[in-house]
Amino acid sequence: MLQIADRALPATTITVLGQLQALVDAGVDYPARVALAKKHWDGKTGSVAKATAFQSIRTTLDKMCVGPRRCAYCEDSLADEIEHILPKDLFPHSVFRWSNYLFACGPCNGPKSNRYGVVTGDTVSEFIRDRGAAILPPPDGIAGCIDPRSEDPTQYLELDLGGTTPDGDVLEGTFNYLPAYDLAAADLARADFTINVLNLNREVMRLARESAFTGFRARLREYVSEKNAGAGEQRLASLKNGVLGSSHLTVFSEMRRQRQILPDIAALLEQASEAMDWLLVRT
Ligand SMILES: [Zn+2]
Repeated sequence: MLQIADRALPATTITVLGQLQALVDAGVDYPARVALAKKHWDGKTGSVAKATAFQSIRTTLDKMCVGPRRCAYCEDSLADEIEHILPKDLFPHSVFRWSNYLFACGPCNGPKSNRYGVVTGDTVSEFIRDRGAAILPPPDGIAGCIDPRSEDPTQYLELDLGGTTPDGDVLEGTFNYLPAYDLAAADLARADFTINVLNLNREVMRLARESAFTGFRARLREYVSEKNAGAGEQRLASLKNGVLGSSHLTVFSEMRRQRQILPDIAALLEQASEAMDWLLVRT
């Protein structure tokens, strides 16, 4: 997971979002605002103005995707659902807030749904609203899930790519997400919570990231080999775009970050040091 670069919405879309949010905020109390959030979200394409606004939101979210319209969380599947980072059923005051949106896939968005945790001391407590219980807001505090719109997930998470230890042992990577090294306890709890809620280490993703690693290494080899053979700027740009147009760009980001323990990757990046600066996120 990588931090997404922000983009501005058209002014007319911001106006429509503001109007919808005001309708929700006008609810007399929290349960009323929860009900209004659902009503207006379900009716968000009920007029030409609203449908146009939401079409522009989808277009803008598409441009913000990491990789070829890939889900912001798993980077594997087609992103086609507007995901509320803070769940809309729990945070009616953020249901029409632009910075609360990103493009995700169904398999990530569905299970996350209303799962929400809040940092409590050194842990993350999950807030569960039981069916039939009073509709109360979640407690104040820092959200358990890392927000790729406003935070850099690579500060919290790293991928286990394996590598060579200082003693020369070669370890196989699991391609699982792990909490980054040396995190403070509360950040460690957020990293664990995020991996768990988004099910980032489901077997199919682990295998996909392993395959992406092999693919990126092959692309880098090709780039270095053609560069050394004197390929022109246009050809090298096309090879670079092949990397940037791939899924699982976090794998490439981690290959760069962990190159000291990946000798073959370090050797390639030494010969193509410009690849260290390639922007992985569209701006
Ligand atoms: Zn996904």
